[in-house]
Amino acid sequence: MTTFKSKLPARFDLPRRINRLSELAYNLWWVWNPMAQRVFNRTDNNLWERVNHNPIRLLREVSRPVLNAASQDPVYLEIYDQVFSDFDSYLARTDTWFGATYPKQQKQIAYFSMEFGLHETLPIYSGGLGVLSGDHLKETSDIGLPLIGVGLLYTEGYFSQRISEDGWQEATNNPLDFANLPLNLVRKEDGSELTIQVDFPDGPVIARIWEVRVGRTPLYLMDTNLDVNNPVVRQLTTRLYWSDINLRIMQEVVLGVGGVRALRALGYNPAVWHMNEGHAAFMTLERAREQVQAGKTFDEAINSTKKNNVFTTHTPVPAGNDEFPVWLIDKFLASLWPELGINRDQFVDLARHHQNWGETFSMPVLALKYSNGRNAVSELHGVVSREMWKELWPGLPAIDVPITHVTNGVHTSTWMARRLRVLYDKHFGHDWLERLDDFELWEKMETIQDGELWAVRQHLKRKLAFYVQERARQRWMQGGFYPVQVIASGVMLDPYVLTIGFARRFATYKRANLVTSQFERLLHLINQPNRPVQIIFSGKSHPADEPGKMLIQEVYRAVKKAENGGRIVFLEDYDINLARYLVQGVDVWMNTPRRPNEASGTSGMKAAVNGALNFSVLDGWWREAFNGDNGWAIGPDADLNEDVQDSADAESLYQTMEKEIIPLYYGDRDANDVPVKWVHRMKESMRTITPQFSTRRMLKEYVDRLYLPAMK
Ligand SMILES: *Cc1c(COP(=O)(O)O)cnc(C)c1O
Repeated sequence: MTTFKSKLPARFDLPRRINRLSELAYNLWWVWNPMAQRVFNRTDNNLWERVNHNPIRLLREVSRPVLNAASQDPVYLEIYDQVFSDFDSYLARTDTWFGATYPKQQKQIAYFSMEFGLHETLPIYSGGLGVLSGDHLKETSDIGLPLIGVGLLYTEGYFSQRISEDGWQEATNNPLDFANLPLNLVRKEDGSELTIQVDFPDGPVIARIWEVRVGRTPLYLMDTNLDVNNPVVRQLTTRLYWSDINLRIMQEVVLGVGGVRALRALGYNPAVWHMNEGHAAFMTLERAREQVQAGKTFDEAINSTKKNNVFTTHTPVPAGNDEFPVWLIDKFLASLWPELGINRDQFVDLARHHQNWGETFSMPVLALKYSNGRNAVSELHGVVSREMWKELWPGLPAIDVPITHVTNGVHTSTWMARRLRVLYDKHFGHDWLERLDDFELWEKMETIQDGELWAVRQHLKRKLAFYVQERARQRWMQGGFYPVQVIASGVMLDPYVLTIGFARRFATYKRANLVTSQFERLLHLINQPNRPVQIIFSGKSHPADEPGKMLIQEVYRAVKKAENGGRIVFLEDYDINLARYLVQGVDVWMNTPRRPNEASGTSGMKAAVNGALNFSVLDGWWREAFNGDNGWAIGPDADLNEDVQDSADAESLYQTMEKEIIPLYYGDRDANDVPVKWVHRMKESMRTITPQFSTRRMLKEYVDRLYLPAMK
């Protein structure tokens, strides 16, 4: 089992009877355990809301009399004791899936990612890639896989979003207060900070290392914001994905090269090295460098390290690839050539990629060539990736290109509403989470009464509506917000109306404007007096993505129109917290990517887990999941050119809403006003999607098909 390398700070002065609260606050296990959240909530429920569910702030700010009272309250103590008994047995378990299936396997896996989305209070993610990495870590903890996460700690995190009255995205960057975050600085025996060094032409860069505890899985985050570094270098880990290519390549060197050095400094010796997306691909070179320094030739070194490398690609379009002009490689990596024992041309050859506008040094090429395990993230994305990268295997037909696929999943306990867990506890037995990916278990869906399931759904939708209204109120009270924006942010939402959600990064390929493209037709559909429809939009664009920001503006224009009756809304500042409310609360989750640009997508899985029905283009994961009865498809299962696809998909979208979705929701109600046919479709969706599109199924596939072969 992996052990932690940091000491917990003794920061809070707590009554002895409840002093383990601090341990719980510093382990993100509480994030996916409702009972642990309850213990924080019960400590001081007003404060828990005010600190936005941040347990470290709660423990810093809670008053002593409140703590004293809690430590003498038998009801509180009963919950407290139960939580710590669960927590201790969770951490000590050896009969996990991995422990039981591979009892002799002790080797560790390093997992590198540019972003990790674990909880909204630690905003070091921008979207789906980060949330996937976060879910990956949580699942490794659950199944007992000895994996170690490696990433960067961004001192400002990802930006907060506001939308101006004319629909323009405004980004603000606020420094994070590390003292309020579940971060432990890793120190040496003598108490000084453990640091690593990476060399650049202008001198060395020093990074310190922070540990985040994710259940039993440690995550190490590097941060270069230190006095010893020059001001440019200090910025390297300020923000995610710098647009400036100088900063960007240095970030990736810190992640890939620095990450290997950090693991060494911490005393780890992983047997598998997994790169989640190409950003970390410099890791392959650092691992080869270690062996060249130990006496091997470059070829021997790169070929032997390659066996333990695993690379996951997430990018189905050539333009989305992470690559650098060759002059930038000359500028930043020249000192590496002699250390590897190769010359400049040999170095550039490692990742040379021909574009029609010239040559680049491509991070996915580097990762694909020097990893023996390679995978895409859905079946269709596998097909697309093999076609896209076949040039790297000259002579092989695309079908034989050695890139497999492991379809993404979501960490069920993180995303599933507590009310649903309670329902499953009752109907499936208390150990159902242990058997989460067992399809037979999910056959029991049929035994749940329609009305009982519907009541949970209604509750979740009301919760969403009230939350949205409260956010709008708070935003209005902060000032600088026009009345029309108050309406645009959802104060007129009705918790009993059919509600469609569309929330994700606003990149143009996701076509947020498809549903508004024939606006009069949409108005007609949503404004029928006895069958109204609401649409909730939310999402950020990368600050440098001008077309993405214009897309937000276009959608916001439709949102502000009085004719929509306050039924089309846009919620600012999409993050994990808002995502949780949305995927749990809406009736329909809509996704309209331009096929095949969506490598997988995961938010639709989160929605399905909670009983929302997917209404999506047959791209990414949905193409595998859709069976005709568990949601709806938009457009055909075919690759069309852009213009044809846009109009065919719009037509299909409106037709399906009009002829299927709206009638199914409002029609065929039983004596208790339960839409029975709708509920049957929900059950079909929950039954088929929850087990299959879980990180449980996903991690087992990674272990069997990629990690174990790389350990041999
Ligand atoms: C799950 C999630 C995503 C991924 O969205 P897709 O539409 O599936 O790509 C993005 N952002 C947040 C905050 C999420 O929770």
